[in-house]
Amino acid sequence: MRHPVHHKVDVLVVGLGPAGGTAALAAARGGLKVAAVERRKEVGLPVQCAEWIPLALLGLLPDLMPNLIQGGGINVQSVDAMITSLPSGETSRLRTPGMMINRAVFDQAIAATAERAGAALYLNCRLDGLDTLRHLASVESPQGKMTFSYRVLVAADGPSSSVAKLMGLPKQAVVHARQYTVPLLQPTRETAVWLSPDFPGGYAWLFPKGDQANLGLGMDKRFAVNLKTPLDNLHQKLVSEGRVGHTVIRRTGGLIPVGGLRSALVAGNVLFAGDAGGFTHPVMGAGIQAAVVSGRQAGEAAVACLDGRGRALESYEEDMRDHFEQALSRGVKQRVWLKAGGKDETLRKGWVAFPEYYAGDAA
Ligand SMILES: Cc1cc2nc3c(=O)[nH]c(=O)nc-3n(C[C@H](O)[C@H](O)[C@H](O)COP(=O)(O)OP(=O)(O)OC[C@H]3O[C@@H](n4cnc5c(N)ncnc54)[C@H](O)[C@@H]3O)c2cc1C
Repeated sequence: MRHPVHHKVDVLVVGLGPAGGTAALAAARGGLKVAAVERRKEVGLPVQCAEWIPLALLGLLPDLMPNLIQGGGINVQSVDAMITSLPSGETSRLRTPGMMINRAVFDQAIAATAERAGAALYLNCRLDGLDTLRHLASVESPQGKMTFSYRVLVAADGPSSSVAKLMGLPKQAVVHARQYTVPLLQPTRETAVWLSPDFPGGYAWLFPKGDQANLGLGMDKRFAVNLKTPLDNLHQKLVSEGRVGHTVIRRTGGLIPVGGLRSALVAGNVLFAGDAGGFTHPVMGAGIQAAVVSGRQAGEAAVACLDGRGRALESYEEDMRDHFEQALSRGVKQRVWLKAGGKDETLRKGWVAFPEYYAGDAA
C-alpha cells in the first residue's frame, strides 16, 4: 500500500471561495508557508451566486482594483439602487451602490493573487479527515490521499463546512436558493426584490447583468419542498411583462446561512471565516464582502499567532464579533417577520429597506 504524500505547512486553508482566497493571500503575504485545498476542479465554478457586490468592497481588494474598475472581466455593470415590492404592490427604492460581477472570475482572481504571493493551491482536493489534536488533515486528491500537518487551519469551506462537521460542531441554519440566468430585455441599473407569502422566510430577486439577469429566490425549505414552481411562476410573470426572455441560460442554486455567527469562530488552532463562520447576512443573503473581510483577518491572525504575538486568535474572534455581530443578530431576529409575513406591515419588519426593520435599535 502506498503511503499518503505528506505536506508540512504553517497554514492550511480549506476552500478557495472569497474567504479562503483572501485568507491564503494574507497568510502568504505575511511570509508563512500556506497550502489551500479546494474540492472543485476549477476555482469559482459552478457559480452559485446572484453576483452583486457593494461598492465598499472595492477598497478591500487593492490587488483586484484595476480589474474591478477597468474591463478586466470581473465588473459587468454598475448598480445604483434596489427596488423592493411588497404584496400590495407598494414599492420602495433604496440606494445600494454596487456592481454586478462575474463571480467565477472574481474568485479566480483572488486565488491567483494568493498563488503569486506564494500559497500552494491544490484543486480537485477534498478535505475528508481532521485530527485537531495532532493538527493533521487528510485530503482526497485525484492522485490519492494526501496529509497536511498545519499550525493554524482556516475553515473557509462554505455553508456546509466539512471542517465543522469533522469537528462535531452543529450544522448552520440555512435557506435554500434556486436561480436562473435569463435574457434581460430592459437593461437597468436597479436590482429588483419581491417580498411575498409565496417565498416564506426569504425573497425573490432580479439582478441585472448587462443583457442578462440573475432571477432567483431563496426561502425556508420547511415551507415549500419545491422551489421550482414559485421561481417558474415569477419567471413567467416577468416574461409576460416583457422584462425578461423565456430562455433559461443557466440554472444554479445553493445554501445561504441565516443563523448568524457560529457560537465560536475559533476552536483551538482552527479559525472559521466566511459562510463557514456564519458571516452571511441572514436577511439579504449577501456574504461576499464579509467573506473577504473575515478571510483576510483570519490570515492576518494566523501570521500574528505564529509570530508569537499572544492572543492573536482570540483577537480574531473579538474583532469579528465587534464588526459583524450586531448587524447579523438583528438580521436573525428580524428574519422571523419574513417567515410570518403575508401582509405588507409584517414583511416591512423583516426587510432591510424599511425603517420598521431597525425599530428598537435606539433603545
Ligand atoms: C444563490 C445564491 C446567491 C447569492 N448571491 C449573493 C450576492 O449577490 N452577493 C453576495 O454578497 N452574496 C451572495 N451569496 C452568498 C455568497 O455567495 C457567499 O456568502 C460567499 O460565497 C461566501 O464565500 P466563502 O468563501 O465563505 O464560501 P464559498 O464561496 O462557498 O466557498 C467555499 C469553498 O469551499 C469549498 N469546499 C467545501 N468543502 C470542501 C472540502 N471538504 N474540501 C475542500 N474544499 C471544500 C467549496 O467547493 C467552495 O469553493 C449568494 C449565495 C447563493 C447560494
